Amino acid sequence: MSETWIEVDLDAIVGNYQEVIKHLCPGARCMAVVKADAYGLGAIEVARALERAGCEAFAVTRVEEGLILREQGIRGLILVLGPTSKEEWPKAISAELQLTISSLSSITELDEIYSEMALNPELNPEIQRQVLVHLKLETGMGRTGFQHTEMEALAIALANASHVQVAGIYTHFARAAQRDRRYSLGQYERFLFLTARLEELGICPTWKHVCNSAAFLDYPQWHHDFVRIGTLLIGHYPGQGFGQKLTLRDPWVAKSRIVHLRTVPKGTDVGYQSIYRTKTLTQLAVLPVGYADGFGLAPHFVPQGWVDFLKIVTKNFVALFGIFLGQERVELKGRRVRVVGKIGMQLTVIDVGMQDCVLGDEVRIPLRRTVANPRIPRRYSQAGQMLSERTMKEGVLPANTEYSFQ
Ligand SMILES: *Cc1c(COP(=O)(O)O)cnc(C)c1O
Repeated sequence: MSETWIEVDLDAIVGNYQEVIKHLCPGARCMAVVKADAYGLGAIEVARALERAGCEAFAVTRVEEGLILREQGIRGLILVLGPTSKEEWPKAISAELQLTISSLSSITELDEIYSEMALNPELNPEIQRQVLVHLKLETGMGRTGFQHTEMEALAIALANASHVQVAGIYTHFARAAQRDRRYSLGQYERFLFLTARLEELGICPTWKHVCNSAAFLDYPQWHHDFVRIGTLLIGHYPGQGFGQKLTLRDPWVAKSRIVHLRTVPKGTDVGYQSIYRTKTLTQLAVLPVGYADGFGLAPHFVPQGWVDFLKIVTKNFVALFGIFLGQERVELKGRRVRVVGKIGMQLTVIDVGMQDCVLGDEVRIPLRRTVANPRIPRRYSQAGQMLSERTMKEGVLPANTEYSFQ
């Protein structure tokens, strides 16, 4: 029995999905982005719940993530967004995953691999007639995608690859979550220009898609055939300034139990480097969670202007004097309680004051979804019922996945 766990409310995720589709332009569909284990919530459970709610398309970064979804019964379109390697293609083709293509050489190679597979009926007799791919265009993310100089060569490569069919064409915005719209407008213009050029060259993909969560909210005229939504489904806005355009619910609560409780006198030093000293007679409680679980970790923060910069400097400056601004807080019986001292690898101390509490009391903890250790059990509920619990022994899906359905 784990003393730290995460509760995931699948109804909230489905509700968020329904909010998204309410705001779609006619003709557009929602592709649920469930990469990185659905941002830590659990790709299989989230995709299953969404597929039951009518979602027809999913996206992941890697082939292995897509294979797991297929093995677990997801029937919809599965697009692999990231770069893939030749070794993975036969499995991806057999599982009817759609691959993202962003280099010329991979078109010829993919065509060859498909031909070999098609010649061997034992490999997969029901193999799809062509491999469906999505072309990724580089418009300003500086990561992957075809450049404008490659359009002619791309058309030639595709014309020579009879087994490769272009199902989609897309690009990804670098600054859609920021208020300055010029960069996104520039990216979109380049996208339109490149797709028009390809059409002139005879490449007419079935679907176009450009929007992530932020662009979906800000640019309804860009919804095209799919919007690729991750952040909104897990109940978050992609940044500040999006108002309350949708009614979102947070499906995620991380909890831990008090596993040690002690009343200590004023002046007690706490944790590594003794950065905290109690100011009065108080109770210190220990929670079995730490940075190895992802607790207290935040992504590297790049200041977005001078105000941000001053905040960071001030925070670090006052820390010199033992004042920790922005220290994590947890919630015990509806009251906010401070984390004190340095967060340990697997243990954290909170100062609960003289509040009534006992060993075993539940505490809600702020745990970032994408860095929460996969080994922390996820407990899924739907329609008010506890559905299943997933415990991952080695942090690898699916061989080590244990399900216990009730
Ligand atoms: C992650 C990702 C998305 C989803 O972005 P959100 O802002 O989380 O909705 C869409 N497209 C691509 C290519 C991605 O990598």
